[in-house]
Formats: sequence, C-alpha cells, structure tokens
Amino acid sequence: MAEAEIGLIGLGVMGSNLALNIAEKGNTIAVFNRTPQRTQEFFHEAGDLQDRVIACETIEQFVAAIKPPRPIIIMIKAGEAVDQQMELLKPYLQAHDIMIDAGNANFRDTMRRFDALKDSGLTFIGMGVSGGEEGARKGPSIMVGGTEDSWKRVEKVLTSIAATYNGDPCVAWLGENGAGHFVKTIHNGIEYADMQMIAEIYGILRDGLKMDAKEIGEVFGRWNKGRLNSFLIEITETVLNANDPLTGGPIVDVILDRAGQKGTGKWSVIEAQNMGIPATGIEAAVAARSLSSMKEERVAAEGILGLPGAPLEVADREAFIADLESALLAAKIGAYAQGFAVMAAASKEFGWNLPMPTIAKIWRAGCIIRSQFLDAITKAFTDKPDAANLIVTPAFAELVKETDGALRRVVSAAVTSGLPVPALASALGYFDSYRRGRGTANMIQAQRDFFGAHGYDRVDGLDSHHGPWGSGLVSERS
Ligand code: NAP
Repeated sequence: MAEAEIGLIGLGVMGSNLALNIAEKGNTIAVFNRTPQRTQEFFHEAGDLQDRVIACETIEQFVAAIKPPRPIIIMIKAGEAVDQQMELLKPYLQAHDIMIDAGNANFRDTMRRFDALKDSGLTFIGMGVSGGEEGARKGPSIMVGGTEDSWKRVEKVLTSIAATYNGDPCVAWLGENGAGHFVKTIHNGIEYADMQMIAEIYGILRDGLKMDAKEIGEVFGRWNKGRLNSFLIEITETVLNANDPLTGGPIVDVILDRAGQKGTGKWSVIEAQNMGIPATGIEAAVAARSLSSMKEERVAAEGILGLPGAPLEVADREAFIADLESALLAAKIGAYAQGFAVMAAASKEFGWNLPMPTIAKIWRAGCIIRSQFLDAITKAFTDKPDAANLIVTPAFAELVKETDGALRRVVSAAVTSGLPVPALASALGYFDSYRRGRGTANMIQAQRDFFGAHGYDRVDGLDSHHGPWGSGLVSERS
C-alpha cells in the first residue's frame, strides 16, 4: 500500500542523511538504492526512525510505496548516472509525479532534463543541496529550480528539513529549470575561493611567520569570534588543533598538499567566462587546486628554481596578524561580489529573475559558506536590489575602503617573500581595476585596431575610427 509522502533514491553519504532528516520531521519516506545491501544497512541505521522508512529492493516496490502524485528525490552521483536512473524510473511513474535531482548537477544537464520532461506529464526539479553530511542530516541549505507550481508541491517537506537562520528556513524557489543548480554551482565556486584564501593566509602564517599549527589554530579561533565568523573559519581552527593518531603531531602537517575537485568550481569559471563576467577569485582557486595536484612537478621545480624571495620580516607581528584578518575579509568580499555578479548576469541570460537577497538569506545557515557575513550581504541586496556590484553598496563600499589597505600590505609582503597568494592578489587586482574610471584598455584597443582593423571608440564621442598607424597597415575610415 502506498504510504510514503516522498521517495528518495541513493543512500550514499548525502542521500542517507537527507532521508533520516526527512523521516525525523514526521514524513514517511520510501527509499531505494542501486545496491540493495546498502538499503538494508540504511534501514538498520535508521533505528528509532524505522517506523517512517519503507526500504524497497526494487524500483517497482519503491514507486508503489509512494502516494501519488509522487515527489521523488534522486541523490546519486551526478552526470550520466542521473539520466540512467531517470530512465529506469520513468516507466513506473504517472502524470504529475516529480523527479527531483538533488545532486551536484551541471545546470545545463538540468535544463536539458527539464525540457525533455516538459510535455510528458512528469515534472522535473533541479535542487542544489549544500551542507555536506551534517547539513543533510540536521538541516541543509536548499536551492530549488523548476516550475513555481512544482515548488509549491514540495515546499512544505523541504521547508521542514532545511536549516534555519533566526527562524527563517534556508530554502527557496529561485526560478525555472536550471536556476537552483546554477546557484548551487556558484555557491561552490565561492566556497572554492573562500577556502583558497584561507589556505593562503594559513601559508603566510606557517611559512612567513613560522608559526606552528596550534599557534595558527589560536589565530583562526580568535578570528572566528570576530567579523570572519563562519563555518569555514571554525573548521580551519578545528583542523589545526587536531592531532594525528599515528605521530601525535598536528594532522594538518601530515596531510599531502594535493587537493581534489569535482567540477562545480570549474563550471563556475566556465559560465562566468561565457558571460564575460570576471570571477578572478574563483578562477585563482580552481587554478590553485590544479597546481596543487602537480605535486611531483612542483617538487622538481623547487629543486631547479629554488624558493624565491626574502624571509618575511614584520616590524609588529600583532599588527601584521590584524592585517591578515582584514585582508582575508577584503578578499572574501571580492570573491562574493564576483559570485553575485555572475549570478546577476546568468539571471538575465537565462531569464530566471534570481532573487539576490533571498540567495544570500538561504546561505546564512546550513551550507558550507554559511557566515554572519551573508547576513550583511542579505541586507545590502535588500536595500539595493539593483546594485551593479556588491562592493558599491554603501555598507560594503565602506568595508572595502576600510580593509583593502591591509590586503595591499599583506599581498605586497607575501609577494616580496615569494609566498603564493593568487586568490588574495586577484581580489586586489579586481578592486583596483573595478574602481578605476580610466583604465588601460585604450592601449589594448589601439593594438587590436593596429593588427586587426577592429576600430576604436573615442573619448570625445566622435565617430569610431581606425588608425592612424603610419605604416599603411590600416587606413583611416572616413
Ligand atoms: P556517495 O556517498 O558516493 O553515494 C553515491 C550514491 O550514488 C550511492 O547511493 C550510489 O549507489 C549511487 N549511484 C552511483 N552510480 C549510480 C548509478 N549509475 N545508478 C544509480 N545509483 C548510482 O555520494 P554523495 O556524497 O552522497 O553524493 C551524492 C550527490 O550529492 C552527488 O551529486 C554529489 O556531488 C552531491 N553532493 C555531495 C555533497 C557531499 O558533501 N558529499 C554535498 C552536496 C552535494 P551504490 O550504493 O549502488 O553505489
């Protein structure tokens, strides 16, 4: 008999925790996993919640266990696996059933899946879920894309499982088709930048100021009580204080400096580039992860080229550490400003009407980049929803003016000492370029005209011109 209000396919790390979260909020849930043994293990793990879990070994049983019209969450490996799973599911579904892809899909796949189901009577939702294992279990941040009508049908259950910030649920409908997965992608892109900037500051403390893991942990602990308060700073402190059970020393010192990546950072950069929006913080972070994976090449290069720069010398250590805090805040503002600018451009490009204050709002809790800083962004976009850029909203303009001097000092010191700070430096370059009314692209345009006859606009507004370049390569257009 159909008893479940909702179904979930994929009992991996995220799916199993999300299913328990859903059951805990009073919903009966049917679950299915490709490998049936995992379904049995999950049922066992459900403990007190077993009453609200219907563990199914076949897709037929699974679909039959859910009350129509069925909302079905698919939380499996992103990519082709989702298409395969949807094809296996489709023959058993009926009109008005909703398939909800909750994995980290490329939003272009989501748009394709959404369109493919448009006239089938079935509905598709692309839903970004952030917060990792703990978020899925206790309350993630949820970014929904699909028709408004389909959102209304799942709103209640999703609101019941989402994180809350001051009582506000961290879930929202953000627009049609790929809107939810696009916003999740940019969330992850910002997360890449945030993590890279923290890692660069850690590098300055470790290799510049020669502090050990515990000392650096103390600094991050202090910062977590101030303006940088956030989940990522909090876990950085925890990581720095954790010891390796084998050696007894700090675990961070025995972890190989080679970072993985799955795709959302790269997709953020590609989409930003496609739309011509600078996202230099995310680009720097993705490139830094790629460079990190070239461990052997880097070791060999150090042998050939040596390490550059003079040892970091600071007159006032405490003042420099205070500068590092402000520099991290400034750089973070740059990365978030870029991420929001990419979303604003995508909103126009794909006709989504993305609500910027709402996006900032639902990122305040549950997700990996959660922080009090996002509360300030929510306020900034609520006051100025059409702001061209976060950094020109009154509160953030003040913050940039207050902190970018520290960023400048930190980047100069790091560069002089040969300490790599690509993401921090990218933020400085972004601020300095964005705020300069008269830039240097007049030279680029002159060069383009010289070799390619591309023409140029004049500052005095007179007609566009070519040349004069003297060599007869390009003759003046009259
Ligand atoms: P996971 O622990 O590796 O679990 C993967 C799940 O996908 C398993 O249930 C697996 O089933 C299933 N699966 C793989 N290939 C399949 C196929 N061809 N057909 C049907 N099922 C298949 O992964 P996860 O961390 O839970 O991630 C699930 C999704 O959430 C991914 O899109 C991921 O990017 C996204 N996500 C993850 C996190 C995170 O922090 N981990 C956060 C946000 C979003 P079997 O047991 O049969 O192998």
